[in-house]
Amino acid sequence: MPYQAEYIWIDGTEPSPLMRSKTKIIADGKTPPIWGFDGSSTNQATGDNSDCVLSPVFTCPDPLRGPDDILVLCEVLTVDGKPHPTNTRAKLVSTARKYAKYEPFFGLEQEYTFIQNDRPYGWPENGYPAPQGPYYCGVGGDMMPGRDIVETHTAACLIAGLSIEGTNAEVMMAQWEFQIGALPPLEVADQLWVARWLLFRIAEDFGVYATLEPKPILGDWNGAGCHTNFSTNQMRADGGWKYIIQGAEALGRNVTEHIENYGVGIELRLTGHHETAHYTQFSYGVSDRGASVRIPWICNVEKKGYLEDRRPNANMDPYTVTRLMVNTICSDADKKSPIKSAAPKKAAPKKAAAKKTAAKKAPAKKAATRR
Ligand code: ADP
Ligand code: MN
Ligand code: MN
Ligand code: MN
Repeated sequence: MPYQAEYIWIDGTEPSPLMRSKTKIIADGKTPPIWGFDGSSTNQATGDNSDCVLSPVFTCPDPLRGPDDILVLCEVLTVDGKPHPTNTRAKLVSTARKYAKYEPFFGLEQEYTFIQNDRPYGWPENGYPAPQGPYYCGVGGDMMPGRDIVETHTAACLIAGLSIEGTNAEVMMAQWEFQIGALPPLEVADQLWVARWLLFRIAEDFGVYATLEPKPILGDWNGAGCHTNFSTNQMRADGGWKYIIQGAEALGRNVTEHIENYGVGIELRLTGHHETAHYTQFSYGVSDRGASVRIPWICNVEKKGYLEDRRPNANMDPYTVTRLMVNTICSDADKKSPIKSAAPKKAAPKKAAAKKTAAKKAPAKKAATRR
């Protein structure tokens, strides 16, 4: 029996790209080949020279179709086989390779907002719901619109074999979060894009939009971010504290480049209020949710672990944000405390097991693969 492969890619819409996908029926036993699309309809080419190439980079079981169907995340190439200008993944590949000896891991906290009829899902037609307070991790009554969508999305991510770590309701009513990680840069970024696509696609079935807008409602309502948690093998080892501080300080010396690439509309969100630091200022601190970079309390106790860059917007590009963080922090480590060669390979903590369970639960599924 032929199977269905949903080819997914990131388009050229400005200022923030959209996700696109289309279905290919593939003969039994064949793997998903290179494919193409009309780039003039996605802001990636002109009409007279419209062909763009879809090159598969990550595949996983499709949780929404039959047991043999798959999702195929692609990077976009030009017809001469070069990365398309909108292809930010290609740049991450070389940076990840260059600093692989630091074994960087990321955990991404994706916040988002459900929208229906041009307002947050479940909000009254006129005016506002009760002020922020009860919604974060809340339960009960009509306070938690969207939970059924969140539950469906989480189950779908697990069946797909993604390293989803958890979910929670956020501070603004109709705003939610899921986390992906902890994984190396390419893996976490590919998986975040697939998890985003699943969220958009599943929300369709509920008659709702999921938006990554960083500040969907102006005023006294929290924005939506994508806190980016980061560690190297140096930070995770005993005595890693020194490297965590070194990493935070390296970020503090490269504020402009990072802020400019942390998602469109960042100045609307990083106001210095609502658990953010102002986008023009840099600070770091233990447990400080008003700092640009927070070091979790447990890392202060254990004197090792990771740091959390709280600045990236919900609409950030994980290929770009992980590339900048690896580049800034590992190039600085290369100057101060270089690792000479790659350490022996260790499996990513905890998630390997979770992945296996997910794959087992999905009957006759193809395991996730990455090229
Ligand atoms: P909070 O909401 O308190 O900021 P979350 O529980 O939502 O925290 O997210 C914590 C994130 O930290 C997760 O994505 C997890 O993968 C990540 N994380 C934990 N340990 C590490 C590590 N050593 N390196 C990188 N990320 C890590
Ligand atoms: Mn969180
Ligand atoms: Mn959050
Ligand atoms: Mn966080």
